[in-house]
Amino acid sequence: MKDTHAEAFAVMRYRCGTCRTEEIIWNSRDGVTPFCVDCRMCGLLAEHVEWSRDRRDPLHDSAPGDRYFRDGMHEEARAILRERLRRCEGTPYEVPEDEWEDVIAATLPQEFRPGWPKLVVRGSDQDTLSPPNAMSGELAQTEAPAPRRSTRDGGEGMIEESGELSFSANDANIPVDIWMDTRLHDRDDDAETR
Ligand SMILES: [Zn+2]
Repeated sequence: MKDTHAEAFAVMRYRCGTCRTEEIIWNSRDGVTPFCVDCRMCGLLAEHVEWSRDRRDPLHDSAPGDRYFRDGMHEEARAILRERLRRCEGTPYEVPEDEWEDVIAATLPQEFRPGWPKLVVRGSDQDTLSPPNAMSGELAQTEAPAPRRSTRDGGEGMIEESGELSFSANDANIPVDIWMDTRLHDRDDDAETR
């Protein structure tokens, strides 16, 4: 099975442009990843560096406490957008709360396409909130590797089945504007031609 994305299952190095902290982050699926994440030490931008050292490893198992990418879920996208709207309160960009749902409905399908990258900590609550098609940490350890298909193909309906999940405000600590950096999409397209 040929990977769709150049960064499929890649073990990647991110380096903070400010405090220079380096972090190894695994991409647990055949899906896009962002160029930049928030630095774990200082919260500023850490950039994917030394691409030539990326290593494809579908069976990589991130250690507890390590961050890795999985597919983001519909509810998580909603939580991020709600937190973004909340942060606009009291600013010139404030949106009346009774319009939030409309804004979210309009924004979510464009910014958070199925298979959007979500950075989570192995062993955390979010780690267990994997989309139905994704391999959980426990599965990875107890079952023989099975062919997996990307949840990109799974459709949104499967994600919405987990409608009872709740998320803390910490979900919104993700630099959401970075996720949707246009370069991310360029890279996506790029990868498909390789
Ligand atoms: Zn830093």
